[in-house]
Amino acid sequence: MVSIEEIKNIERKWQKKWEESRVFEANVEKNRRKFFITFPYPYVNGAPHIGHSYTFFRIDSYARFKRLQGYNVLFPQSFHATGEPILGAIERLKEGDETQIETFKLFGASDEEIKKFIENGAEYAARYWMEKWIENFKLAGMSIDWRRTFITAITPIYNRFIEWQYKTLRKKGYVVQGTHPVIWCPKCQSPTGDHDRLKGEGESPIKFYIIKFRLETGEIIPCATLRPETVYGATNIWIKENEVYVKAKVDNEVWILSNYAIIKLKDQLKKIEKIGEVLAKDLVGKLVENPITKEKIPILPANFVDPNIGTGIVMSVPAHAPYDYIGLEDSKKSGDAIVKEFAEKIKIKVIIKSPDYKEIPAKEACEKFEVRNQEEKEKLDIATEEVYKREFHKGVMLVEDFRNVPVSLAKERVIEKLSEINSLSSIWEPSGEVICRCKTRCHVKILENQWFLKYSDKEWKNKVKEAISKMKIYPEEAREQFINTVEWLENKACTRKTG
Ligand SMILES: [Zn+2]
Repeated sequence: MVSIEEIKNIERKWQKKWEESRVFEANVEKNRRKFFITFPYPYVNGAPHIGHSYTFFRIDSYARFKRLQGYNVLFPQSFHATGEPILGAIERLKEGDETQIETFKLFGASDEEIKKFIENGAEYAARYWMEKWIENFKLAGMSIDWRRTFITAITPIYNRFIEWQYKTLRKKGYVVQGTHPVIWCPKCQSPTGDHDRLKGEGESPIKFYIIKFRLETGEIIPCATLRPETVYGATNIWIKENEVYVKAKVDNEVWILSNYAIIKLKDQLKKIEKIGEVLAKDLVGKLVENPITKEKIPILPANFVDPNIGTGIVMSVPAHAPYDYIGLEDSKKSGDAIVKEFAEKIKIKVIIKSPDYKEIPAKEACEKFEVRNQEEKEKLDIATEEVYKREFHKGVMLVEDFRNVPVSLAKERVIEKLSEINSLSSIWEPSGEVICRCKTRCHVKILENQWFLKYSDKEWKNKVKEAISKMKIYPEEAREQFINTVEWLENKACTRKTG
């Protein structure tokens, strides 16, 4: 039997011969048919893993097949190092991040090498990992012409190519200036693109409405919501127990909100200035006026309120929001006599009718998903989404102002109405939690006069779709994914401070 060592010797012998005789180097030959192929630039913040071979062996097989067919095959290979992944990794090393150190060790970097990464920075590390890739490609017998290799971000000629791309796009009107919300890392001071994220790929900015409820003393309790039309069914306000809220001057009003909300609103072009602090417990039991119904409703504590989302204060609509329904049920069992008393007095107000529910939608949803208390966030999120979707698409309003008006329409009208009576504002949030590769939580910033790639442009989208329709794509099902991505793309911030 042939031993592994003997097989390896055969492998080494031929790989050496290939290299010496430059068999994979493609030179210009006027009379031969040409064929170009490459493996999409791998990002060099680590060594290749077995999953990469799934793609690169297919490419190599195809290159060899075309050579057998008589083509002059050019198969160059380069590497990618733009943006936050490698910079973030080196920053994390500098901070002594164990996970990052382990990741690099797992890829085969020694302690000594990791020290060099810290000393010499991202470019050094990118080159180190590129060498590892090349070594692995050679060991795998990839039929690459290595004379044309580079790393994207640190090669002057490649940078010139990107410059040319941007200039060309700008001439065509696809690089534009504008004011747009972007997902923003306050530490990197940069928009956080998908590949800059440790968590939250695919999340984008969404607008929450702020409804201004008013305390008897005049301060505003701003409640963030995605469903302003449900203001008619608000029975109370929820705040986070034990939270220290902040008093802030907003234009000529005084708002009470979470500290983080101030940071976000400042980044969203609001003039806002902290003037004091308020403890949650001093707000509990106070009454606020609903700007639409003029009812006086109490402020109560609930554990599910997240000070990091919106203003850190929400209105409670127990008929139509599962969190609010279960929060109210929990409050009825509260050890705090004041909270218990208020909760027991609250009458749930059903303000939307939809064919999917008999009486109280949120109650029925909580029963369906077997939600026992407000700590069961996973179930509550599913229940919330279901009620929201069903009521938005099939529900009609039951309130006098908008009797029988579909919810989707009523939403717009309630927004107008709140705006007319100076009781509406807004705050942007990522659609889900986003953590930058530097480990910082991201929020939404509104960038003024910033440069954007106008991916939303209809004409551009049509051109791309036309080009896709002419491509041969294997397997054919992948074509739809390309089309969907083109449809989904929105304007993309294209300036950054680092990377
Ligand atoms: Zn960051």
